[in-house]
Amino acid sequence: MNELDNFVMQFIAQQRKVLPDTDKQYVNQALYDKFDEIIESVIFKNAPEISLIISCSYQKYSLMIPAKQNSKTKYYLLYDKYLAQHLKMFNAVFLYQKNTEPDLWKFSYQLFSEETYLAKDMLVAFYTAINANALDDFQCKDLLATNENNRWIDIQVDYILAHEVGHWLFRLKQYQKERDSAIIEINEVLEEVYSKYSRKFKDKDYISLLTESIDKIRINGNMLEECFCDSVAYSYIFSRLGDDPPVDKSLDIIKGLLLCLLHTQILSMCNFTVNDEGNYEIVNSIRLSYFRNYIMIFLNSNEYQLLSEMLETTIKEYENKITNIILPIFSTIETRIDNLYDSTEIKEANSIIRSILRGD
Ligand SMILES: [Zn+2]
Repeated sequence: MNELDNFVMQFIAQQRKVLPDTDKQYVNQALYDKFDEIIESVIFKNAPEISLIISCSYQKYSLMIPAKQNSKTKYYLLYDKYLAQHLKMFNAVFLYQKNTEPDLWKFSYQLFSEETYLAKDMLVAFYTAINANALDDFQCKDLLATNENNRWIDIQVDYILAHEVGHWLFRLKQYQKERDSAIIEINEVLEEVYSKYSRKFKDKDYISLLTESIDKIRINGNMLEECFCDSVAYSYIFSRLGDDPPVDKSLDIIKGLLLCLLHTQILSMCNFTVNDEGNYEIVNSIRLSYFRNYIMIFLNSNEYQLLSEMLETTIKEYENKITNIILPIFSTIETRIDNLYDSTEIKEANSIIRSILRGD
């Protein structure tokens, strides 16, 4: 490990609220292997260096970090293992056949305590953590390591890693003047995808929907990047299946990916409720419609019907088991937090804590 690596590692350790890593499915070596395989699949001539750094922290999001040294840029993909633990929990809740509400209460309090802890709102972090711990253990906990959940989380981790590698490719395109190698014009890639669609689905009504989403993507530069990264991830995942994979296998992968998008949508809603920022609604709806359209490219036309049935039933089931229950829970918790701030005793206690922290 060189000086720059050390510097970046220290920087990350300071920035993140690190937790004990309890993930049994993904020992770090498995992640390094996965990462190497993804890089191998997109690598090109003269590619700058990229290293994987693994973290497990409350921040839970992965990101690409460019670091400059002696006019050369080295890239670091910071992969945060903690997100996968949340995705696994959401998968388990989705698989649970009885009432999911008690688990969603516990999980919501936990999510709120993590978000408010990061926002340094210790009073609320403490209150929500106590509530999360006071509730019974998760009823769906036996479903955390079923074959189905393991298979989905595997796809979801592939997706997260390959999506971030997509950011690396995207940035290279922006930074590198010379485009002699396989760094492709990103806009062209997307245009190509869409023109393929327009040809393939000439007479279908959702072409208009697709045109609408292209327009949205065009005005929003960020969205262009996110959709590009998603397509890198989808292509990588499907490339591992070989030609003409059995349809149930493809559909299972698509289901794992769809669940991943739906879970992260709920996580960003929680983040939005706590921090009041972001435009998650637009971003998520574009990504979801991009996914629904893009994913068809990996199936044969006689499989479209099965795909659309699977998507419909999964989304319905997700709404019934998760979305329609967790969103009202989020707003109830929000009201309880507001009440907490309104109570005189708490106000007093809070001001005492603050003055102690200030050292008055
Ligand atoms: Zn991204």
